[in-house]
Amino acid sequence: MKIVDIRACQPVCDSPPDWRTALGQILVAVDTDVGLVGYGVGGGGLAAIHIIRTVLRELLVGQTVEPIEIHWQAMYDATLPFGRKGVAIMALSGVDLALWDLRGKAANRSIAEVLGGPKLERLPTYATVWDDIPDSLLGQHSAFKLHLGKSDVSVESHAAQVKRVRDRVGPHVVLMVDAWMKWDVPFTLRFAERVASLGVAWIEEPLPPDDLAGYAELMRSCPIPIAGGEHEFTAAAFAELIDRRLHHVVQPDVTWCGGMTELVKIYRHADKQGVRVCPHRGGEIWTLPALAALDANPLAESGRPWLTWVGGQPTITDGLIDVPNRPGFGAVIKGY
Ligand SMILES: [Mg+2]
Repeated sequence: MKIVDIRACQPVCDSPPDWRTALGQILVAVDTDVGLVGYGVGGGGLAAIHIIRTVLRELLVGQTVEPIEIHWQAMYDATLPFGRKGVAIMALSGVDLALWDLRGKAANRSIAEVLGGPKLERLPTYATVWDDIPDSLLGQHSAFKLHLGKSDVSVESHAAQVKRVRDRVGPHVVLMVDAWMKWDVPFTLRFAERVASLGVAWIEEPLPPDDLAGYAELMRSCPIPIAGGEHEFTAAAFAELIDRRLHHVVQPDVTWCGGMTELVKIYRHADKQGVRVCPHRGGEIWTLPALAALDANPLAESGRPWLTWVGGQPTITDGLIDVPNRPGFGAVIKGY
């Protein structure tokens, strides 16, 4: 099965008015000489599409679909002078996922089966919420993550917000918080002290991802587990986070970090080192197979509702999400 074309576009959707508008998720299609089409999603908007059209497409057209891992390395090498992290790896991720989709479709197997088979057919989920939990979501998930990423808010008001939500959901619902890279070490430690009795399961991305010394300090001093990694790229960078024990929970995003090729490596390495993986947006179709097949303690983060152009996303009922069992990732893409 040979690759005859690679196409990419940024479908119009109702994304938030921030970096996701210009540099948001892209759709990648890999066409083959046997008529199968592989679909993947990457990030980076038009900038990533430019990288696919000018560098990655040229590299892969005319090649066989397998071995994907060799293609991954070729794409990484070709983007190395300007890549390594960020938009180039987001572009590469979309191509990698489209190739994995073809790996599954060619074998008539779901990606969960390709990865060794799903251990569970339904996985527990958590919802990420801003400010408070909407009434409609209460009781729909086994856990919630409160987004606290506004930099102009004091430790006291963040802590009061966590207290309000904890009082509302009761003592048994798992609750995490996400600072989206906006805090520093002293702020995080003061926050942790204020919420120590409120059962916060993890503090996510308290610091910018490059502040490795800060993360080392938090791992020594913070009484609440530290999560992060949604803005980190490649299995090699995750290996450093894992080996240096800079996070208790690593959170790769498969559509940004290098695709399924890298997510599999991250899972294997973290498993060996006893670090938990809880992927960013784990409830989306591109990540669920890894949670189902590779994760000893799966918890799928709710997907982003604005990505309406990816059809076939599984529904969540009673706090559980179905693992797709259609060939490949099971995405339903109309008109591309
Ligand atoms: Mg986050």
